[in-house]
Amino acid sequence: MTSTLNQQIQQFYDASSGLWEQIWGEHMHHGYYGPNGTWKKDRRQAQIDLIEELLKWAQVNSAQKILDVGCGIGGSTLYLAQKFNASATGITLSPVQAGRATERAQAAGLGETTQFQVADALNMPFPDNSFDLVWSLESGEHMADKQKFLQECYRVLKPGGTLIFVTWCHRPTDEPAGPLTADERKHLEEIYRVYRLPYVISLPDYEEIAQQQKFQKIRTADWSAAVAPFWDVVIDSAFNPAAIFGLLTSGWSTIEAALSLHLMSRGYERGLVRFGLLSATKS
Ligand code: SAH
Repeated sequence: MTSTLNQQIQQFYDASSGLWEQIWGEHMHHGYYGPNGTWKKDRRQAQIDLIEELLKWAQVNSAQKILDVGCGIGGSTLYLAQKFNASATGITLSPVQAGRATERAQAAGLGETTQFQVADALNMPFPDNSFDLVWSLESGEHMADKQKFLQECYRVLKPGGTLIFVTWCHRPTDEPAGPLTADERKHLEEIYRVYRLPYVISLPDYEEIAQQQKFQKIRTADWSAAVAPFWDVVIDSAFNPAAIFGLLTSGWSTIEAALSLHLMSRGYERGLVRFGLLSATKS
């Protein structure tokens, strides 16, 4: 089951990452549009601002050994390595992404201090206590076992180190809203299918899992309002000749993902999809 899912994720990113980089650049994550999502700004700047705002929120201002879990083509990995003058490792399921990230690192003069490899976040090839910053930006939604995922993040973190974990969630299901409705579940199923996600959970669910893993100083925040405008910007950018041509040559999974962008913008609009942050330390 998991290996089939991982193959699907791999194929999805192998096929779509080149086009995303061409149209959008190296960051494969939401942008930050101010606390209420009202600030107008360049879309790439918005993505960099998200990284900076996350560091500020988590009060991280230095790191020596960084792990980027679900690194894409190394957008955050290289940014953080450069910013903190640190060594950084990125893992992804996609060999195409790992290869491209390595090329980009070399081109940026970071070939010595960064490395990228194909590895499964649920079974990381690193000893315990290896990194002082574990960073995971929009990959947790792909994980079939959220418990194992946070357990692995905890294991590879050095005592005193920090986890910054940001992921797609569904709304909390406690009162007053209550359990997900059949229509909400159907909407989520569509998102899962198109973006190769097994399922998502709510931010309070993640908090509970983090507590079970003995993480300390656990903090969470819902930044849905700050990032939701991202999807409208992506939808606009898909309507240009280079994007359309690229889509036609990238295969069906990429076309379907592009045709389904409204699922995410609608998901935010109705309060169903949430952008969850969790930071924690290991003592
Ligand atoms: N964090 C990056 C990329 C986000 S896209 C950025 O912000 O630019 C999601 C990434 O998660 C992809 O690189 C995908 O390969 C990775 N991923 C998904 N499931 C994974 C798993 N089980 N193990 C490792 N990486 C995974």
